Amino acid sequence: MEQRDDQLAAAPTPVPTQDAEVDEYQPPRATPMQEFIALYPLPYAIVSARMLLVSSAVVLCLVVHNVVILVSVFEDDKSQSLNPVLRFAALARVIAAIPRPILWWRIYVLYTAAMREPTTLRVAQRLIAAHRDRRIRCNAALNNVYNVWLLGVITTLAYRYLQRADDERTLFERALCRHACWCVLFMVTSHLVSVVAMLSKIHSGEEEQALHARQLERCSECIEVDEAMQQRLADDPCIICFATFEEKQIVRKLPRCGHLFHKHCADAWLLKHGRGRMACPICSSEIGVELDVEEEKDPQVSRELAWLAEVRRLHPGIDFW
Ligand SMILES: [Zn+2]
Ligand SMILES: [Zn+2]
Repeated sequence: MEQRDDQLAAAPTPVPTQDAEVDEYQPPRATPMQEFIALYPLPYAIVSARMLLVSSAVVLCLVVHNVVILVSVFEDDKSQSLNPVLRFAALARVIAAIPRPILWWRIYVLYTAAMREPTTLRVAQRLIAAHRDRRIRCNAALNNVYNVWLLGVITTLAYRYLQRADDERTLFERALCRHACWCVLFMVTSHLVSVVAMLSKIHSGEEEQALHARQLERCSECIEVDEAMQQRLADDPCIICFATFEEKQIVRKLPRCGHLFHKHCADAWLLKHGRGRMACPICSSEIGVELDVEEEKDPQVSRELAWLAEVRRLHPGIDFW
């Protein structure tokens, strides 16, 4: 995103003006991960932070297991030519794991800070910004190195297995093979658990509803229907329940578009259907986004908020209902 953040296309006129440049601004295309964060920032932040804690504990256990294999003296592996290579690989993995706890802690702090933001759009912006943090990028790079390491170890062990009878493999190779199996099992399980937990969070949406309820109160207006208003809206019923507006009823007027609904209808509908993006049921304009964008003092953050709002507008998300 940051590579194209300040990208301005060529102005159509021979002498480009500032207005023309703004008109031609092409927002960067969101990656699938950025689209997911834009739509479901809270489920992403909550599940990622919790999974980080669980994963940290499991990975530390796996690293300790790796150390135990490394320092164990197996009587039968002295004459095996490949064992020094595998031992070096095991040692490299332990060394690469040393800085991980600091990086994990930093990611956890960034995710929990994002979760405390007052609106889902701001949560999404903080998460996107967090992914530019050099420590998070360093952690992602180490993760890729670990994946390559695991693939290399498994390939080597599989090659040894095919080359030799099972009972001819050294104890060290067998121990490392068991370790690699545990690593793969953990990797697959953690990804599956993350996906299931995120879908479950998206479906329940409890934290998001609380955030949306506060956002709705902050940026929309509640009006009591008087006689003149009732007559004016006689042919224009509430689009959610199709009942007309009666005198003394409370209606909710949405910001920007000004569409009116019974307060209880609007609140129930918006909080139930507004997963990630809380939008008007008539015109789909997102509620409260302009406040987030306008109130932001930092122009970079303001531009990112507007960009994320556009990404959310273009992608409908998962429909559970
Ligand atoms: Zn209604
Ligand atoms: Zn509307």
